[in-house]
Amino acid sequence: MKLNRSEKQNQLSILPSVDELLKSSQGNEWLSNYPRTIVLQSIRDVLSAKRKSILDGLIPDITIETLNREIKDKILKLSSYSLVPVINATGIVIHTNLGRATLPEKILKNILAIGRGYSNLEYDLETGKRGKRHIHTKRLLKQITGAEDAFIVNNNAAAVLLCLKTIAEGKEVIVSRSELVEIGGSFRVPDVMAASNAILKEVGTTNKTHLFDYKNAINKNTGLILKVHQSNYKIIGFTDDVKIEDLVSLGKKHRIPVMFDLGSGCLLDLKPYGIYSEPSVQEIIKTGVGIISFSGDKLLGGPQGGIIVGKQKYIEKIQKNPMARALRIDKLTIAAFEAIFMEYLDREKAKKEIPVLNMLFQTPGEIRSRARRIATLLQKTVKNTNIEVIKDTSKAGGGSLPEAEFPTFAVSLKPEGISVNDLEARLRRSSPPVISRIKGHSLLLDARTVRKEDIPPLVKAVSISLFQQ
Ligand SMILES: *Cc1c(COP(=O)(O)O)cnc(C)c1O
Repeated sequence: MKLNRSEKQNQLSILPSVDELLKSSQGNEWLSNYPRTIVLQSIRDVLSAKRKSILDGLIPDITIETLNREIKDKILKLSSYSLVPVINATGIVIHTNLGRATLPEKILKNILAIGRGYSNLEYDLETGKRGKRHIHTKRLLKQITGAEDAFIVNNNAAAVLLCLKTIAEGKEVIVSRSELVEIGGSFRVPDVMAASNAILKEVGTTNKTHLFDYKNAINKNTGLILKVHQSNYKIIGFTDDVKIEDLVSLGKKHRIPVMFDLGSGCLLDLKPYGIYSEPSVQEIIKTGVGIISFSGDKLLGGPQGGIIVGKQKYIEKIQKNPMARALRIDKLTIAAFEAIFMEYLDREKAKKEIPVLNMLFQTPGEIRSRARRIATLLQKTVKNTNIEVIKDTSKAGGGSLPEAEFPTFAVSLKPEGISVNDLEARLRRSSPPVISRIKGHSLLLDARTVRKEDIPPLVKAVSISLFQQ
């Protein structure tokens, strides 16, 4: 049934005005609990949606109860934060879309302490004069990595940009074709090169690059030899690339600086975990490389940041580049980095205390026991769903350790009467949102990334989502 013209007029005239709703007892209650602009916007939005559907000839529910309920929902939506905690049940530890590294308690405490009051951010307590913000992270970084000097900027993309701009602006930068990578869509080596006004000099082929390729490309205008970690992909088969040691020797011979964009930047030796593809920052520094850059929030497990370590002569120049000011980190990030570097002074403790390392290198038994706990609790509350704990594998994520597969355990859900895609969407929209993984006809909750404290809200979110059917 559709409304004719006079019926439409009639319906529109029944609709209360913004003012009437605002002055009602409900309106007064909203105004005393929420900001006026949000209450006003919510009333206007709900009324205009009703008006539109009347004009379209439909008959919307415009009883006062419905209007009040819809306005209240709108108010709640508009007055809640957009950035909220979520439960990561994907098993991907360094999930860029879910905020990468989760931070240890000690770091959070230091962020709170520094954020809450004043600090000696740029104040020298010895002399009472102006100090430098970068000294707070320099000492520990040098100590941990063995580098001559260190400097941190906003993220690794910024670090690469700043290094290229300082060392190689207007000059040629030699890069292997197999390393012209794109990371997460926004960081592409050729684009960063262009933004820094350095000239990209590609050498070798996609699968093989030899030392002579680099050597033959050197000329009077060569400013830098750059090696880039392939991060999120792997070339397998008939392949060859040049070791950083050999590039360093080549650079020395021709007096050309050598830089390594390590991407993840691991500060621990991962060989005891069977990972041989990810040399530590310390090992790379030992080769005598000029500059290394890496992220703070990938394998390192800290806040977002681009860490630059290497030879003092380059770091000093980089620090003096006017662009360094535009890319500088704030006091909360400095507080976080200093606290996490302190953890790394004791490697064994770091593995336990830093969540990224802890989640990656926990034993399969520990993951299985959390998966079983989730499954048991779910079996008690939900019906019509096949629930079992299955063995699977997860990835590190964030372009880190691309070829490493980590054995994991997940709770597999096969619901009746609702598709796994619908269940996945409901979980995403629940509070707190739960991000899961679909595999074939099951929905997987990978226990690797589900922390102990996530279990009760996770179970609740799944139960509610399955009850809605
Ligand atoms: C992740 C990554 C980047 C970008 O680092 P951000 O900290 O995300 O800016 C650059 N290069 C490599 C090789 C990477 O893996």
